[in-house]
Amino acid sequence: MEVRRRHAQTPVNTAGKGNGGGLSKVQASDALPLPIRHTNLLFSAIFMASLVYLMRRWREKIRSSTPLHVVGLAEIFAIFGLIASLIYLLSFFGIAFVQSVVSSSDEEEDFLSHAKTSACSAPSPCTLLGPSEVSSEKLPEEDEKIVSMVVDGKMPSYLLESKLGDCRRAAGIRREVLRQITGKNLDGLPLDGFNYDSILGQCCELPVGYVQLPVGIAGPLVLDGRLYYVPMATTEGCLVASTNRGCKAIAESGGATSVVLKDGMTRSPAVRFPSARQAAELKAFVEAPENFETLSMVFNRSSRFARLQRVHCAMAGRNLYMRFSCSTGDAMGMNMVSKGVQNVLDFLQDDFPDMDVITISGNFCSDKKPAAVNWIEGRGKSVVCEAVIKEEVVKRVLKTNVQSLVELNVIKNLAGSAVAGSLGGFNAHASNIVSAIFIATGQDPAQNVESSHCITMLEAINDGRDLHVSVTMPSIEVGTVGGGTQLASQAACLNLLGIKGSNVDTPGANARLLATVVAGGVLAGELSLLSAQAAGHLVRSHMKYNRSSKDITKSVA
Ligand code: ADP
Repeated sequence: MEVRRRHAQTPVNTAGKGNGGGLSKVQASDALPLPIRHTNLLFSAIFMASLVYLMRRWREKIRSSTPLHVVGLAEIFAIFGLIASLIYLLSFFGIAFVQSVVSSSDEEEDFLSHAKTSACSAPSPCTLLGPSEVSSEKLPEEDEKIVSMVVDGKMPSYLLESKLGDCRRAAGIRREVLRQITGKNLDGLPLDGFNYDSILGQCCELPVGYVQLPVGIAGPLVLDGRLYYVPMATTEGCLVASTNRGCKAIAESGGATSVVLKDGMTRSPAVRFPSARQAAELKAFVEAPENFETLSMVFNRSSRFARLQRVHCAMAGRNLYMRFSCSTGDAMGMNMVSKGVQNVLDFLQDDFPDMDVITISGNFCSDKKPAAVNWIEGRGKSVVCEAVIKEEVVKRVLKTNVQSLVELNVIKNLAGSAVAGSLGGFNAHASNIVSAIFIATGQDPAQNVESSHCITMLEAINDGRDLHVSVTMPSIEVGTVGGGTQLASQAACLNLLGIKGSNVDTPGANARLLATVVAGGVLAGELSLLSAQAAGHLVRSHMKYNRSSKDITKSVA
């Protein structure tokens, strides 16, 4: 606190002096009509002239035996001038002397207090500020006290929201604590303009602000006979423009169509038995068709939207992995499926007392990691999206030809990815579009890993004139309720697509529609990027849209 106050004063003291930060004190002499140098010279001259005149007069009086106290008018003026100039000179030099003594002791105090601060700012967990980066933002006194308590470790930062009952205030205090501990300026990270209540206990803990991302719109995407304006949050230049071009090619060819093959979120607990034989007994039990009804009844108690579809097991020695798959309505469904799995584990424990539950999530699920099981079996929504792009549109909009595109796709997306040993990466840049739509619509961006699995197929049809293009994406994990979907910005983007919240008539329809829009966006993105590569335009367009033309040295300065 102390150091921040000092820092705030410095610009006032040094204003206009251009002396690099030295203190400039206001003096009484600043009020004189003449420059101080001239005034001093004037009074010195008056003093000397009066003194010399009076000395001469007194010498003459002594010689002529005239009493000294008998004075003429000229002598009276000389005496007055002598006294006045003496008073001025004494005041000026005397006060300057006193000021110099006082200011030197002030400077000593400044130096001592600065030395104390410097000693405290040696790198340590309680480090206080790097003054050059510290903002002069002032908190109310009461909040300053709370800041000190958190800095001193007397109050945990994570308790601020519950103790204060005011999420915005808690974030402001936490931010100030961070500023004091690190000495780093957070000015570019906004604090205001965000509803911190909306993330409490659901989206983000220990908030200190929010990151801004631009949202661009690609479209209209003509998909299954409807028009969608697709929101994409990204900082990658070219991406929205390129997807937009793909949307145009699709629209001018009559639109794309999609089909949802599967809709099921998965969770796979890992359990261990004393022997592999016992583990195999449980595997046989959960996979037996006659037990499915019982298991699904237990599982479905977790939510009115959770419906068990299948349990797929795998073993590793005496460890058993049971991959539960269920529909989850309009929620992406991780919480829902986890609750259902917990219900089943509790139920099984009675009949299989030797079962040791190692973890509710044993990575056979598989969440947020590349895994063949998702690529082959699917997770979330499995979608295929296709379109036929007319020869004329390929030439006019995509600036290439059908044959070049088909050849490029085989060599790059199929053979090239096979050479790379790719897992679900038989595409040009599906993850670009998936991530941008995920962030804009409040999905979990980490699920981009499996949601971007995609194989892009291009074929020449109608005697080689037109292009059949498709994307097959087995693991698109999206929801329109829960998680980040309820935040204001993200909900606005879902609203733009007409799928905000839950679908009352057909639970799950909104989330499935979002998955098809993601696949449609990927279709557009694939078409455009492949065309740019086929036509050799890629580097040129990236130079134009993706590389800043600003003078970076100026921005840094
Ligand atoms: P997730 O399971 O994706 O993590 P949440 O558990 O955060 O999602 O959100 C799902 C919640 O939303 C559940 O409490 C569920 O009852 C509720 N909900 C309301 N409408 C729907 C719907 N149409 N589909 C799915 N869940 C819904």
